[in-house]
Amino acid sequence: MNGLYTSDTIVALATATGAGAIGVIRLSGNEAIAIADTIFKAHHAKPLAEVATHTVHLGVIEADGQQIDECLATVFKGQRSYTGEPVVEFSCHGSSYIIAQVMKSCLAKGARLAEAGEFTKRAFLNGKMALSQAEAVADLIASDSEASHRVALQQMRGGFASEIETLRGELLNFASLIELELDFAEEDVAFADRDSFKALLSHIKQTITQLVASFSVGNVLKNGMPVAIVGKPNAGKSTLLNALLNEERAIVSDIAGTTRDTIEEVLHIGGIAFRFIDTAGIRETHDAIEAIGVQRAKEKIAKAQIVIFLYNQYDDTVADVVAFVKEHYREGVFFMLVHNKIDLYTEGVHTFDEQVRHALVGYNITLLTLSAKERVYLEELKQSLTNYAQQINKAAAGNTVVTNLRHYEALQQALTAVERVEEGLASGLSADLLAIDIRETLYYLGSITGAVSNDEVLGNIFSKFCIGK
Ligand code: GDP
Repeated sequence: MNGLYTSDTIVALATATGAGAIGVIRLSGNEAIAIADTIFKAHHAKPLAEVATHTVHLGVIEADGQQIDECLATVFKGQRSYTGEPVVEFSCHGSSYIIAQVMKSCLAKGARLAEAGEFTKRAFLNGKMALSQAEAVADLIASDSEASHRVALQQMRGGFASEIETLRGELLNFASLIELELDFAEEDVAFADRDSFKALLSHIKQTITQLVASFSVGNVLKNGMPVAIVGKPNAGKSTLLNALLNEERAIVSDIAGTTRDTIEEVLHIGGIAFRFIDTAGIRETHDAIEAIGVQRAKEKIAKAQIVIFLYNQYDDTVADVVAFVKEHYREGVFFMLVHNKIDLYTEGVHTFDEQVRHALVGYNITLLTLSAKERVYLEELKQSLTNYAQQINKAAAGNTVVTNLRHYEALQQALTAVERVEEGLASGLSADLLAIDIRETLYYLGSITGAVSNDEVLGNIFSKFCIGK
C-alpha cells in the first residue's frame, strides 16, 4: 500500500456498450501514453508524449494503416489522474465497430483488458482515495434516487474516512506507548498516560456508536425504504399498490431500458425510494392458501420499515386489528393502520377506529381511512409517507451516515473491541492483553478506509464494479 503502485497498462470502454453519441476508451498505466501514440495522430502532429498534461487533442486513430475514426484524446500525465498513473482517454464516435477496432489496436500494442473496477482499485492502491471512497464510486454509479445519490457523493468526497483515520492515528500512538511498556515490563513503568487514554477511548466509542446508529437511516437512503402492505386476502392490497404506483408508472414507463418489474415495486417520494416488498406475493394472494399468506406477511413485516395494514369493519373485528398490532409492532417501524373500502361503509368507520385507537394507547401508530379503489384519501396516505421521508432526510442532514454494510459490520466489530479495551483498562488488565484489544480496534477501523486490507477483501469489493470503472 505504500509507495506508488505501478503495473501494466490496462484498457477498457468506460461508457456503456452499444451505439452512442460517443464512446470513451480509457488507457491507464506506465505505457498508456506510448501505446496511445502508436495509434493516434494529433492534427497538430505532436506526439502525446510531448504535449502538456491535462490537455485534449483532436486527431485520427489508425489501425493497420487504416483510419478508424477522428476523435479526441485527453492526456493525464504522471500521477495526476483518476488512477494515479498516466492515463489517455479516447472519445470516439460511439459505434461498436469503431470501439472494437480501437480496443483491438490497444491490445495489439501491449495493453491488457481491465478487470472489473480495476481503474478504481488502482486509484485506491495509489493513494488517490480511501477504500470507503472507492466503494462510494460504485454507489454513486448505482444511485437511482436523490437520497442515494446524495449519500454516495458525500462518501466519495471523503465522508467519515478522515475522521476514522484521525481516531485511528491517535489510537495507534497509544498502542505504541503501551507496547513500549511491554519492552520495559521489568521496570514497571507506564509511558501511556491512562487518563488521556481513557478520554480518547470514550471519544472513539462515542464516534463509532453514532456512526453505527446512522446505518438504519443510511441504509434507507441508499437502498430505499422497505414497505410491507399487509392484510387479509381481498383487503385491497394490490388495489392500493396499483393506485400508489399508477401516476408514477405513467411517467417512468416511457424511459427506455427500465424494466417493468422494478418500476412496479418502487415509488419515489420526497427523494426517497419506497420499495414494496414481495409485490409478486401481493398479486398472488388470491391463489395462495391462507396459511402461506400469513407466513409470508410475517416475513414481510420483519423486513419492513413501514407497515401498511389494510382492514375494514366488515371483514375484520376491532380485536383482529388490535391483535395484529400487538403481534407485529416493533419500535422504529412506521405502523400505519388503514381502514379501507370506506366508499362502501360510511357508517361506523369512526367508531370502529376510535375503539382501535383506544385499545392501542401507548403504541406509536398512525390511523388513516381510505378507499383504495376510488382513491379517496389516497393523497393523505401519500402525505404520511412524504412526512416520514422528510423525517429520515432530516435525521441525515448535516450528519455523516454509514450506508455500506461492510463499513457497518467493521464499525460494530471496532465498537466491541474498543469496549473491551475500556473494560480492560478499568479492571487493570496487563499491558500485553490490553495491546491485543487495541490492535483489534485498529484493525477494524483500518479495514474501513483500507489502511489495512488484503487481496481477498479488495477482490470482493472491486469485482462488483463494472468494467471500465
Ligand atoms: P388483495 O387481495 O388484498 O390484494 O385485494 P385486492 O386489491 O385484490 O382487492 C380485492 C377486492 O376488493 C377487489 O375486487 C377490489 O376491487 C376491491 N377493493 C379494493 N379496495 C377497495 C375499496 O377501497 N373500495 C371498494 N369498494 N372495493 C375495493
